[in-house]
Amino acid sequence: MGEERWFFRSDEEWTTIAERLKQTRCPHCKVLGTLIRHGFLYGRDETSPKKETVRARRIFCSNRNARPGCGRTFSVWLADKIRRLSLTTAALWLFLQHAITLGILAAGRAAGCRLNERTWQRIWKRFDHGQSKIRTALCGRCPPPESPPRLPANPARLPAAQVLAHLQAAFPDTHCPIADFQHTLQTFFV
Ligand SMILES: [Zn+2]
Repeated sequence: MGEERWFFRSDEEWTTIAERLKQTRCPHCKVLGTLIRHGFLYGRDETSPKKETVRARRIFCSNRNARPGCGRTFSVWLADKIRRLSLTTAALWLFLQHAITLGILAAGRAAGCRLNERTWQRIWKRFDHGQSKIRTALCGRCPPPESPPRLPANPARLPAAQVLAHLQAAFPDTHCPIADFQHTLQTFFV
């Protein structure tokens, strides 16, 4: 049975996943041999604000022609995309780091995407709610650092600063630890 990979980074990696579909169990019904390619999921982000780009590949668990699948679809995501948000992991990383030190509004401006303040507030909240899940996932890789590299101006943001420092410690040699998080742990960051 193939290892389940729901994030990929390159065409080569996608080809490997696609070639193994027949040996991969459906994540919903766990049946083997029913998964087939089913097109693309498109969306915009700050790297391509006017034109939609591929965000994910769709997979179908086939129940057609008497196949034993469950008929459900799911997506295999590019590791630098974020579901339901029109920004990349790199922009999110920039935003979250600045949100700790500068506050949400200034951080939104620094991230270089044209999203309104309400959207940035919503993104922060989404990250905030997911913090304990992120922390647990990171603890499987390395212990948290003793103290965060930059102490936040707002003490209420200290736990968030610790999570970001932990993320950076877990993936030190990369320009975007969030993409590495998704790709390595095969789970959404937010
Ligand atoms: Zn299925």
